[in-house]
Amino acid sequence: MRVYNFAAGPSCLPEAVLKKAQAEFLDFAGTGMSICEISHRDKAFGAMVSETEALVRELLNVPEDYAVLFLQGGASTQFAAVPLNLMHTGKADYIVTGNFAKKAWQEGKIYGDAVKIGDSSDKTYTYIPDLDKLEYTPGADYLHITSNNTIFGSVYPEFPVTDAPLVADMSSEIFSREIDVSKFAVIYAGAQKNLAPAGVTIVIAKRELIQDPLKICPTMLQWKVQDENCSLYNTPPSFSIYMANLVLKDLKAKGGVKAIHERDVYKAGLLYDFIDESKLYKNNVEKKYRSIMNIPFVTGSDELDAKFIAEAKKEGLLSLKGHRLVGGMRASIYNAMPVEGVEALITFMKKFEKENA
Ligand SMILES: *Cc1c(COP(=O)(O)O)cnc(C)c1O
Repeated sequence: MRVYNFAAGPSCLPEAVLKKAQAEFLDFAGTGMSICEISHRDKAFGAMVSETEALVRELLNVPEDYAVLFLQGGASTQFAAVPLNLMHTGKADYIVTGNFAKKAWQEGKIYGDAVKIGDSSDKTYTYIPDLDKLEYTPGADYLHITSNNTIFGSVYPEFPVTDAPLVADMSSEIFSREIDVSKFAVIYAGAQKNLAPAGVTIVIAKRELIQDPLKICPTMLQWKVQDENCSLYNTPPSFSIYMANLVLKDLKAKGGVKAIHERDVYKAGLLYDFIDESKLYKNNVEKKYRSIMNIPFVTGSDELDAKFIAEAKKEGLLSLKGHRLVGGMRASIYNAMPVEGVEALITFMKKFEKENA
């Protein structure tokens, strides 16, 4: 039996995509081989990677002068790749709005003067600092943000506008809203939240800004080298790229990012409206910064939270336990979560509230 999986990542994938992958698993593109067996130098494989790149470009409207890369090492490796490719003068700004943002900043400090210009830890990361009031460092090599905070459930409704190139970790929201890529220098995202199984990380980078990586930058982390080799400098995460290909085709068939965004807003609205009207559940994120992807909530009692998670599991509603830094519950409702999954969760929440009021 399939369950509704509310995990923050790895997370659920569209069922149609899983079935398609299953159907062609033994014979990829008429090669008589599985995608997991084929050489990454095979023509059919190269065509699949090119097609995936074209889908990313089309769905996010990526300008011509940007590289689109499929890399390994997760978003966490990009925490190092960002300074190693961009920190030319040795100073960069970071806004710390959650745990991953903090890790990115700490990684940045290994390579230079990573200045924390904003921090919302005083209220357990339940808001995004006022972007107009921050003191941006003049001449900073870049400004790094985490656009959606997976653990705390907050999101940037709009993005900072500064002279420094803007770098964004969009791991937990990429392809869930339309963005103007030309406003960013670099966007990166691990796949396992909204795109594919773990293994591939997408990097979208303005080419003119990535031509001069630091001398100490490992070859594998040089975006320029990866771009020149069409992400095939070494063996790429082939299965994950293939799955991303299927997910992106599925997304395109569903009407693209604009259409999925409307559905995501609707799904999140159902859950937030219910939580806000309920006497038992509470979401602590400031309303204008609420994520439509990750929705944490608490009952106010650790005991009741544990009971909720255990009983929800029996109803086929899985992975609702909040991150250890927040406690309580968290429903991650990425693109692949059907409306029915959110409705089933709300039905269960109502029943649980009645029984435990
Ligand atoms: C999950 C996540 C990461 C870490 O991704 P890995 O692929 O595990 O390295 C980084 N940033 C954000 C915003 C995330 O949600």
